[in-house]
Order: sequence, then C-alpha cells, then structure tokens
Amino acid sequence: MYDTCPACGSQDLHDSISFRAPVFCNVLYKTKEEALQATQGDFQGTYCGKCGHFFNRIFDQTLLEYTEDYDTSLHFSPKFQVYATTLAQHLISTYDLRDKSIIEIGCGRGDFLRLLCEGQGNQGHGFDTSYDDRQTESAEFLTFYREYFDESHDDISADFIVCRHVLEHVDNPLEFLERLRAVPSFRSDTVLYFEVPNGVYSLKDLGVWDFIYEHFSYFNSHSLRVIFERAGFRVLDLREAFGGQYLCIEVECGSGESQIENLSLERNLKECLSGIQRSFKEKINQWQDLLSTPKKEGGGFAVWGAGSKGVSFVNFVGGAEFLVDLNPGKQGRFTPGTGLEVRSPDSLLDREVAAYIVMNPNYKDEIAAELKVKGIEASIMVA
Ligand SMILES: [Zn+2]
Repeated sequence: MYDTCPACGSQDLHDSISFRAPVFCNVLYKTKEEALQATQGDFQGTYCGKCGHFFNRIFDQTLLEYTEDYDTSLHFSPKFQVYATTLAQHLISTYDLRDKSIIEIGCGRGDFLRLLCEGQGNQGHGFDTSYDDRQTESAEFLTFYREYFDESHDDISADFIVCRHVLEHVDNPLEFLERLRAVPSFRSDTVLYFEVPNGVYSLKDLGVWDFIYEHFSYFNSHSLRVIFERAGFRVLDLREAFGGQYLCIEVECGSGESQIENLSLERNLKECLSGIQRSFKEKINQWQDLLSTPKKEGGGFAVWGAGSKGVSFVNFVGGAEFLVDLNPGKQGRFTPGTGLEVRSPDSLLDREVAAYIVMNPNYKDEIAAELKVKGIEASIMVA
C-alpha cells in the first residue's frame, strides 16, 4: 500500500478505477486449462493531485517474475520497425554513438540494441532476466546477461544507457533511478534514454486497455520529469512519440538546470483524472453491448493483436472468439485468465468473422492491407 506519490512524494492521493486482472498480459499459455488458471492480481488505480501521476496503489511486485516466457517484442510489425529504426538513428546522430559502449536495461530479445550497435562500431551490453538466447542471432558486438543491471557491472564502460518500457514496471521507480545515478561507471556526461508508455494517452484518450497489472506507474510528461530530477538527473529532452503513445526522456548524470522549459500540468489532465472511473466503466459497457448484439451477416468477433492491449480487452469485455497475431511465437497459445486461442493470419480463411477489433489504431491500415491480400471480407473496428 502506497501513501505517497512515487513520482513527486505528495500525499494528495485520490483513488480511482479498480479491477482484477491476470498479472501477466504478455505470457500466453500452451493449453487452455493453464491459461484459465493464470495468476491474477488486484489493481487500485490512484492519482496524485499534485503531479498527475497515476499508479496502482496496491501493486505487489512479488507476483511478477519475468522469465523467458515473457514476450513483449513488437518487432513483427512493420510500423513499429520504422519507429525503432528512426529512433535508433536519432540517438546515434544526436549523441554521436560510434565506437561507444552501450548498455540496455531490459533489452528483451536485443532487437533495439542491435539497431544501435550494428555498423556503428558500438559494443552493446544487454540486460534482461527474460533474455532467451534461442530467439537471438548472436553477433560479436552484442553481449547479453540474463540478470538485472546494477553497480556490480561497473567493469562495463557506460557511454550511453537505454531503458525502454521498464520504469513503469518498477515498484519503487525513484529508488531505481537513484541507484542508477550512483553507478560509479556512469560519468557526468553519460546520457540515458528512457521510454515509457504515455499515461495521458491511456487516461485522456481512453486507451483503457493499457491499464494492466504489470504497470505500476502511468507517467505523464510532468511526473516523468519530476522523478528524474528528484533522482539527480539533468533533463536534456522530453517528448511524445509513436502517435502520442510513448513518452521519451533523455537525461544526463551531470547536475544543473534542466534544458527544457518548465512544464505545467496538462490543462485537462486533472478533469480527466477525476472522470476516469466513470469513463472506464462506460467504455467497457459500450463494447459489451456491441459484442453481445448478433451480427446479421453471421460470424463472431476476433481481436487483432495478442499483446497486452488485446489480452486486457478480452479480460475486461469478453465476447470475442479468438485473437490474431503476426508473431509465430504467440500463435496456437492461449490468453491468461480468458483462455482464448491466438491464431495466425493464415488460419483465418476457414473462419467466418463479422468484425476484427484492432487494438492499436496505429496498425489499422497494416491490418486492412493484410486482410485484403488474403481476400477476407470483414469489417474492422478500432478498440
Ligand atoms: Zn505526484
């Protein structure tokens, strides 16, 4: 139970939405039975009246153990590949990442680290407890460690640090950042790049499927900046990316004034925070009504995307018959809590589906094109 805001330390906390959900939205199971018995956890959403930070007040990190079954790789989507490649090029040119040593904390399969290192003379060191060498092509410029990064790895030179989609999982993010700041091999000009989901996108634009047990924190640009400054970092850049869904922050260890202007709390964020409980229920009710109405053309509903959004959608709403995903590692597996099968796009020809529910608007055109190529006629709805 948390009594103070994990970002700014304020005690001005307000309880909001609550639900029970599978603790892992990114672990799919080999059998339906196992999937139905997946561990569940309780979520008590709470927001800070001072910095707008949103978090799960009763988060229990001991329920979460990241193993090789954990798969958050988005690299099967062309749109995401373009995003990752552009981001890597931006970081390489901004920070002159050539012949450098780069550490990635929470590297997953190492795809992004490879983009940063390959052809640039950089040496990459990837840390992830869920790292699985069977899924990665080895390269002499990449070294992987199936463990957490900490000061015991002080022998690795630290020119640049990358940490994407990790901070929102950590139950004490301030302490996590303070410990990093104190790693002796980090120099005053060592730059760190962090990326987290944009909590405002989930709150304001009602991306309610983004509320998942694995995420303790839902950052907005203000709370993200505040926590880095409290931990002693100097902020070099802070921006939204990927259609507003991500927040990116670049900081350096050296102290001093941050480079960016003072950010005021998003004007409508407070209203949106106080209204989230009602709009969350409304959105789920709307989808339940829609999916319980039989379609006159026959066929059921399928969810396209068996990532955390798709798994959350079927958990909150129900009503879908199966999910579709491009990632072969997910196909033939079952969703936690709900036990629905994940199928490949190739298996769709023999199914009658009234509509595909697309979980991420960014992928809508990609999916429409995929269905057209296969000659499948079905409507597409964006969740
Ligand atoms: Zn706060």
